[in-house]
Amino acid sequence: MSPILLKSALVAFSSLIASFFLAFTMVPALGGDIDGNAWLLLTICPLMLAWPASAFGLWQADRLKNANGELARAHAELAEAHRLLEEKSSRDDMTGMLKREHFFAALDHSRRRTDRGALLIIDADHFKKINDSFGHPTGDAALLEIAAAIARSIRNCDVLGRIGGEEFGAFLAGASGEEAKSVAERIRREVELIRFHPGDEDAMPLTVSIGGITCAPDATVSELMRAADKRLYRAKHLGRNLAILDDRIAA
Ligand code: GH3
Ligand code: MG
Ligand code: MG
Repeated sequence: MSPILLKSALVAFSSLIASFFLAFTMVPALGGDIDGNAWLLLTICPLMLAWPASAFGLWQADRLKNANGELARAHAELAEAHRLLEEKSSRDDMTGMLKREHFFAALDHSRRRTDRGALLIIDADHFKKINDSFGHPTGDAALLEIAAAIARSIRNCDVLGRIGGEEFGAFLAGASGEEAKSVAERIRREVELIRFHPGDEDAMPLTVSIGGITCAPDATVSELMRAADKRLYRAKHLGRNLAILDDRIAA
């Protein structure tokens, strides 16, 4: 027997008892008798009315409960789809790294949890030459190799973004100056070690220059960017394939 039928039978049975109780207390008090027809009505009415009515009510309540469950499921799926869409739209299609504005937002968020950290700006060297010599698709392939080399040189907790065409940002959460230098040097080396073959040609070197700064707690993101950019510019000026995180050369 279905739960609805069972529950509605219980309701009908309770109504039957209630109608008998009312009839046997009220009818004699009013001076009346309960004869055979009254017995019949007292039995049939609750069964004919309460059973189907409560079964219908319970069936509706069950349908409402199922509909609510499905609505909640659809809502959760929609929220997840929205989260995935937002996550996808925050990332650069080519490298999968955070887009510029999302990188800065993530950097801000990370700095709110801990003041310590370092910002690196990593720029591919002479990248225009690769495009000019081998074409844009080959340039894209080289850029992907560089992006992968950067990604495998940092930790999971660090924030990585593509902040320009061939320029990347890395925020090393909680890193000291020394740690940041060794990460920057690891990135520089990892890129230098890439054996990039444009088409059938011999391997051609890929290098990056890096400017970095350890974060003072009160420094704004634009101040950090300016300081890291200045060092990147110096690394370029000094011949490229260099990481500069203070006034000395780290590489
Ligand atoms: P520098 O060492 O001074 O940084 O020289 P550079 O040639 O790397 O710098 P420049 O700013 O002169 O040129 C950057 C080049 O990077 C030009 C641009 O076409 C190329 N570039 C930027 N984004 C992409 C991309 O997504 N794919 C390809 N293939 N090239 C890109
Ligand atoms: Mg460049
Ligand atoms: Mg650049």
